[in-house]
Amino acid sequence: MGAANSVCKLTIDSMALLEQLEPNAAELASKRAVCGRVQELLALEWPACRVLPFGSSESGLGFGGCDLDLGIYFQNVDVDAQGHFSPQERIELLTTACERLGGAFEVRQFIRNARVPVIKLWDPKRQVACDVCVGGVNALLNTALLKFYGLVDPRVRPLVFAVKYWAKQRGINDSANGTLSSYGFSLLLIFYLQSHQSEAPLPSAHAIFQSLQSQTKISVLLERLRSVPAMELPSTFGTSELNSVGALLAGFFEFYAHRFNVEDEVVSVRTGSALSKTTKWSHPVSWRLSIEDPFELAHDVGRVIFHRNGQELLRSEFQRACDLVEGDRRLEDICSPDHTSWNAMATCYICRGRDHATRDCGQLAHQRLQSGRASSLSFLSDCWYCGEYGHFKAACPMLFFRDIPRPMELPKPDGLSAVEGRSGVVHPLT
Ligand SMILES: [Zn+2]
Ligand SMILES: [Zn+2]
Repeated sequence: MGAANSVCKLTIDSMALLEQLEPNAAELASKRAVCGRVQELLALEWPACRVLPFGSSESGLGFGGCDLDLGIYFQNVDVDAQGHFSPQERIELLTTACERLGGAFEVRQFIRNARVPVIKLWDPKRQVACDVCVGGVNALLNTALLKFYGLVDPRVRPLVFAVKYWAKQRGINDSANGTLSSYGFSLLLIFYLQSHQSEAPLPSAHAIFQSLQSQTKISVLLERLRSVPAMELPSTFGTSELNSVGALLAGFFEFYAHRFNVEDEVVSVRTGSALSKTTKWSHPVSWRLSIEDPFELAHDVGRVIFHRNGQELLRSEFQRACDLVEGDRRLEDICSPDHTSWNAMATCYICRGRDHATRDCGQLAHQRLQSGRASSLSFLSDCWYCGEYGHFKAACPMLFFRDIPRPMELPKPDGLSAVEGRSGVVHPLT
């Protein structure tokens, strides 16, 4: 009785949270209007350009008030070329875009030194903040994939909102500081729903998106993305208590606290089942979570976890959530920051210091020196590799525990190294 009751309350709490956090109709309309206006202005310069929203504001999995991400795409170039713009070419395109957009929007910042240069706009009339970049194709595919899962299974949105809210509140949703991105948490949830529920498991990304990845023309790809097939649901779908939102949320915490084998397995939304770390990566890192990007197969979304303490933090938070569910606690208690939150007393979870962020921790610099990888400890410039401030690429924490893909999975863009080719190229699924 107690367990069923607690699961039922979790369902109610999650649905209420969704209602509270999702953007309202007015916000969605304002964002569409901003996108339309940017498109209109840029088409004056480039008639073949398309301005497309991507990321959480477009997938339907973003909180109200989240920034609008817009990508500039060119219908007359092919998919590969769209991914291969150099940073310099991107900066030149954005400089031109700035001139066109400057009259209608406030240009607040132009970030030139990041891996993906971006302009940050503010629309004072509609009160919308908006980031504009030269779009990558994978961003469109990722967004369409998450949107697809949110549409086919009505439990996905309340679950993603609950998980993201929990992760934010508990201080483990910060990829710049060595915990997981929102995208990473969404993939963890989708993977759980693919592999560990019996009634209507979510299909693999491969099954749905395989045909899309072979598209070479942006215009055809965009057309196909609009017509991704729907999934047939059984008529009894979601009626069983076992598969309610609350039960699945409890199952999600339990799965990553106790059942998923972090040491040996890779989360793969592409295949819908776990892959072996030693098969997937030539230099597998056993101590941390590994999440295969469904489209950029050489990219490990878990790579951002650059320190063991970050992994331990994630593990202990899954454990805590799992314990509280078993103790019949409400969602608000599970998500609340309290005396057990690492960030209640510190700004760095490695040394528990209070005067620096985790990525700037002195212990990391010490580690890098010992490993002999650091060529510079100067903190004067920005890192083009991860797009963050405060370090050069040579000292990038993202690079430190990088997984190197096995030769068979190396991307093969003509004449480009693996790292350069990663920016937005679509690789055929294996
Ligand atoms: Zn520290
Ligand atoms: Zn970096």
